[in-house]
Amino acid sequence: MANTLKIEIVTPDRKVLSEEVDYVGAPGILGEFGILPSHVPFLSALGIGNLYYKQNGKAYYVFVAGGFAEVNNNKVTILAEVAEKASEIDTARAQKAIERAEERVAKAKEKIDAARNQAALRRAITRISCQTSGKSAGTC
Ligand code: ATP
Repeated sequence: MANTLKIEIVTPDRKVLSEEVDYVGAPGILGEFGILPSHVPFLSALGIGNLYYKQNGKAYYVFVAGGFAEVNNNKVTILAEVAEKASEIDTARAQKAIERAEERVAKAKEKIDAARNQAALRRAITRISCQTSGKSAGTC
């Protein structure tokens, strides 16, 4: 049985990550799921959340929003619409996105696309939590 598994994270723009790791936890649309080496083939859609992986006893965090995770042949492939390593997250930008979303709610109660605004708010809040998690794990 394999001791590690490979993870690759790609978005339409770029390859975000390619690493040999011990464990992957990912935000599926139906909830978090965990993948250990030698996992059976598996496919899930991704929500907005923080993927996390363990490598040599350390935890690393990656923000993902939408897309799919596939597990096959001891490899986790994440095809994400958007993904950023915790160290890449611009928290000031995320903070501004939170302020914009809150202003939209305050100013335009009737006309606002509430679902879209809520998704923007969730992305921003989750980005900030991703970087906070990476910093407290000492990997960001
Ligand atoms: P914003 O309103 O700040 O653009 P958003 O949530 O609408 O935020 P997305 O559509 O999720 O942005 O992402 C657009 C692109 O910008 C992606 O490439 C994403 O990785 C990048 N991005 C968005 N916000 C951040 C951030 N806070 N830090 C780093 N990259 C970001």
